[in-house]
Amino acid sequence: MPFKEVLGQERARKILSAHIQKKRFHHAYLFCGPAGVGKSMAGVEFAQAIFCPHEPLGYCGDCTSCRKFAGGNHPDYQEIKTEDPTIKIETIRTLRRSLTLKPYESAYRVFLLVQAEKLTSQAANSFLKSLEEPPPHVIFILTSDNRDSLLPTILSRTFPVSFNLLPKKIIEDKLAGQIKKTQERKILAELAQGRLGFAQKLARSEDFLVRRTELLRRWTALNGASFLDVYNFVQWIMEAWSDEYEVFFQFLKLWFRDLFYWKEGERERLINTDALELLEKEVSKWEEGKLEEALLLIDNLQGKLERSINQQLAFEATLLQINSWRQ
Ligand SMILES: [Zn+2]
Repeated sequence: MPFKEVLGQERARKILSAHIQKKRFHHAYLFCGPAGVGKSMAGVEFAQAIFCPHEPLGYCGDCTSCRKFAGGNHPDYQEIKTEDPTIKIETIRTLRRSLTLKPYESAYRVFLLVQAEKLTSQAANSFLKSLEEPPPHVIFILTSDNRDSLLPTILSRTFPVSFNLLPKKIIEDKLAGQIKKTQERKILAELAQGRLGFAQKLARSEDFLVRRTELLRRWTALNGASFLDVYNFVQWIMEAWSDEYEVFFQFLKLWFRDLFYWKEGERERLINTDALELLEKEVSKWEEGKLEEALLLIDNLQGKLERSINQQLAFEATLLQINSWRQ
C-alpha cells in the first residue's frame, strides 16, 4: 500500500516513496509546513514504511512488522509528542541515552519528533549533538509548523520535505467518515482553510456548528459600544470556548475576512456562505479600513491571550475597541 495519509501532498509523497524504494535514507528529515496538513501522520506512515520489508513504495499493512507498528508496539519506533507548550531537555536527555541501543528487529530505529519548534533552546542544543553525530542505525523524523523558529544548525542537518495546505475537496472527502451531512462537510472544509487537522478537530466537537452560529449571532447583535453588552459577550466566550480559543479566533477572523472581501467586491472568496444574510446586514456597518484594523487587533489578542494574566480584561479591551468602530 503506498502512503495514504500523505494524500494531497504529492511532492512529499514522491520524495518519501523514492527513498523507501531505494532503501536509502537521510539521518534526519524535517517535515515542514502549516499546522494541520498531515505532517505527523505522514511521519508515522513513513516510519512504518521504513520498517516494512514487503512493499516497495510504502508499507503492506499486513506483515508482522506492520501489525506491530499499527498496534503501537514496534520496538524500534518511538514518538516524542506533547500537548505541553514545550519539549524539555529531560525528554531529549532520555532520548539521547537510548540512541546507542541497537535496533531490535529492523535495520533502523526511527524517532518521530512532532512540532520540533517546541524544543526549548536547551533541549534544541542537546538534540543538535545527536544530529551532528547520529548513530548509523538511527533515523529522525522531525515535524515543524514553524520552520523559521528552529535553530539554523538544526535546519542545516535535516533533509527538508515541504507540506502544503490541502485542497478543499480532499478535506471534504477525508471528513466523510466523521460527518454525514454533505453541507456540514463543505462548511468545515471552508473553515479549515486547507488544514485537515483543524477540520478534524472541529468535527470531533459535536456542537461546533451550533456554537459558531451562536457566536455570529451574539457578535452581530452587539449594540454600539455598550460596555455591558461586550461584558456579557466576553462572559459567554469564556464559558463556551475556553478549551478551544483557537477555534473561536478562527471563526471570528474568517468572519471579518468575509466582511472585508464583501467590501472589496470579491464575493466569490466568501467562506461563511451559509450566513449570507447576516453578513449582508453586518457589512453595511463597517468601513473597509476599520475591518483591516479589526483583524489586526484580533490577531494581537490571540497572540497575547496565553501570556495575559487577566484574559477577561484582554478580551474586553479588544472587543470594546472593535465594537466601537461599528456604525
Ligand atoms: Zn508490512
